[in-house]
Order: sequence, then structure tokens, then C-alpha cells
Amino acid sequence: MSQDMFRFADEFGPAKIVHVTNPTVGLRAIVVVDNVATGPAIGGTRLAPDVSVEECFRLARAMTLKNAMAGLSHGGAKSVIFGDPDMDRADKERTLRAFARAIADLSEYIPGPDMGTDETAMAWVKDETGRSVGLPRVLGGIPLDEIGATAYGLAAAAEVAQEFCGVGLKGARVAVQGFGAVGMHSARFLAERGAVLVAASDSRGGIADPGGLDVESLIAHKRAGRPVRDFGRGETLQSEGIVGVPCDIWIPAARPDVLRADNIETLKARLVLQGANIPATPEAETRMHEMGILSVPDFVANAGGVICAAVEYAGGTEGGALANIREKVGSNTREVLEAARKHGVLPRAAASKIAVERVRSAMALRRWGLRGSD
Ligand code: NAD
Repeated sequence: MSQDMFRFADEFGPAKIVHVTNPTVGLRAIVVVDNVATGPAIGGTRLAPDVSVEECFRLARAMTLKNAMAGLSHGGAKSVIFGDPDMDRADKERTLRAFARAIADLSEYIPGPDMGTDETAMAWVKDETGRSVGLPRVLGGIPLDEIGATAYGLAAAAEVAQEFCGVGLKGARVAVQGFGAVGMHSARFLAERGAVLVAASDSRGGIADPGGLDVESLIAHKRAGRPVRDFGRGETLQSEGIVGVPCDIWIPAARPDVLRADNIETLKARLVLQGANIPATPEAETRMHEMGILSVPDFVANAGGVICAAVEYAGGTEGGALANIREKVGSNTREVLEAARKHGVLPRAAASKIAVERVRSAMALRRWGLRGSD
């Protein structure tokens, strides 16, 4: 058997990589259940044309670390369905239902919403399998994208991070790449704390205005189905142009690897709040540290969504979820940034150490726990 099949395997996982096809409905998907030491794994189902097994594995691992970091009784997983997120509703329902049927017996995986899927998609998954998170209110869900759960956590991270990088939120200039669920709510929560949105983008380009953009009007514009670049204010940006916009806080809230060795030198921010998962390559993370830019890692800063999902799964309330997010993301951000400062390491390294220790401790309590761990 080719060792290549096991190229992602290490001491933590993945426990399972499942390849799913159904040619009748054109379904092609991958599920990576990374680690279930803390319980059944929660992780988003992404619908996108350009995903890969590797990206799915990296996202699943990020969920293992994120869920352990947040102290949830859930492991980490991720699934990706190959397809156009803008396919018509009937095709989307057929695809999601076929995917859900195919993974019905994979009980250690609880799907949640991600790019290209939403509360309605999770209702279809629950209907087929009996399990999912991020459900509509009518099914007992706490609609995490509607309330901006992840962005609420990012704002809590920002409140703590400001003490570590000298960026006061009042008057801080904010640039948001990816003005979707995470991006627009982040802009709103930070504006409520006195920050000013100076640039925003989506998949079709962006705009920058040093004088400030009206967040509520831009949200209304986007919700009406119009691209950010047609907002009619400021300078128009090409898709990656937002990286170089002068600002204090830069928020990636779209795709992985948007900050890389080839563009990181153009970043003119002092604080990066990682709303997107794995938005920076390891080289870019190192370079940001050298450039004096404080970067709060994804699995610390953007845990709000999965904390909300876990509260929903346990039958909790929206108020309880928000309080939980604020407390956990705030205290984890502080613990990570203090450790990074104390040991002179990258915040991601400090955060990984804390999360990995939590996963190891949980694994040691399970059957076939790690040998030699304490
Ligand atoms: P979304 O689909 O609501 O929004 C994504 C936005 O990014 C859209 O506006 C899209 O046009 C834009 N986009 C896509 N490609 C782009 C590009 N190349 N440049 C600029 N913009 C681009 O998705 P979301 O739920 O807001 O998720 C955004 C990111 O945050 C993803 O990486 C996701 O994994 C991560 N995340 C989301 C949550 C959550 O609660 N929704 C939680 C944790 C992490």
C-alpha cells in the first residue's frame, strides 16, 4: 500500500479520511475526521469548486486545535463538497442531501455550516442524518452567522489584543478581506467599539476609503446581492489589493493562504485578527512577527462559531452562547499572547503548544491513550 495515502498521519490523526462520490447526482466530497479524543468531531461542510484533500485535512486539524483550545467536548473534522456555491437551490439541496445520506453512519462527525453552506443546508443534513449544528431557529438552532457568533469572538480577541500591540480600538482603521458572514459582522462589532472601516473586499474585488465607509450601508448593499466594489465610494481595489491598504487592524475573512511570502511585505497593519481559517502561510506568520505585526491565530480568534455550535448541540441558549464566546475567546487570547510574549515565540506557536497539550491530555484518558504521556 502506498505510504502516500498516509502522508498526513501523525500522532493526533487523522482518524479517518472518507472519500464520497455519487455519480447520479454529481456528488464528489471528502470528509476528514481528524481527532475525536474530546468527543464527536464538529467541523464545517465547505462547498467550493477549488478544494483539495490537503486543504480539508489542514482545516480539520485546525478544528482539532480550535475545539481543544476552546475546551469543548468535541474533536475536530472538516468536509468539502466540490461544486459551485452559487448553484441553484434545488441542485444544492440534492447535493447536500446526497452527501448527508452518504455520511449518515459516520457518527463521530457532526457537520456545521461553512463557506457555501448555511442554516438551511444544515437543516437538510439533520433531516437525513439526525445530526448537524448551526441549524435554523425553527429547529432549535442558534443561527451563528445571523447573530455573528464568530465575529463576536473576534471583537473579544481584539479587545484583549489591543493591550499587546498598542492599537486602541477607538479610531482604529480596519480592513476586511471577505465581506461575508464573518467579515461584515466583524466590521459591525468593531465599529460599535469606535473603529473605522477603511477597506473591504469580496471575491469580485474591493474598495478603500481612508475617510471611512459606512458599515451598515455596506452591509445592506451586500445583502441586496451587490458586490462590494459597486458601493460607489472610495478607490476600487483588485482582489488582493486590500492586503496593502494602510490600516491598524487587518481581518482575513475569506480563503486560506491569502498572506504569503510574496505579498506579506505589502501588509501595513499592526494587528491581524484571523477570521478565516489558515489565512497565512507559515512563512507569512514568521515574517509578520519579524515585522512587529501581532497576529492572533485562527483557532484562537475565530472559535466563536464552533463555541456557539457546541452550545446549540448541548441545548443552550443564544445569550449563553454569546457569554461563553466572549469569556473563552477573550481568556484564550490573553493566555496565548502572554505566553508568546513571555517565551518570545510566535502567537501561533504558543497557541499550538497549549492546544496540543490539551489534545494529548484528552487522548491519554481514552482507550489506547498516548504511550508515555502524562
Ligand atoms: P461567507 O461565504 O459568508 O463569506 C466569504 C466572503 O469571502 C464572501 O463575501 C466572498 O465573496 C469572499 N471571498 C471569497 N474569495 C475571496 C477572495 N479571494 N478575496 C476576497 N474575498 C473573497 O463565509 P464566512 O462564513 O464568512 O467564512 C469566511 C471565512 O471564515 C472562512 O475561511 C471560514 O472558514 C472562516 N470561518 C467562518 C466561521 C463562521 O462562523 N462562519 C467560523 C470560523 C471560521
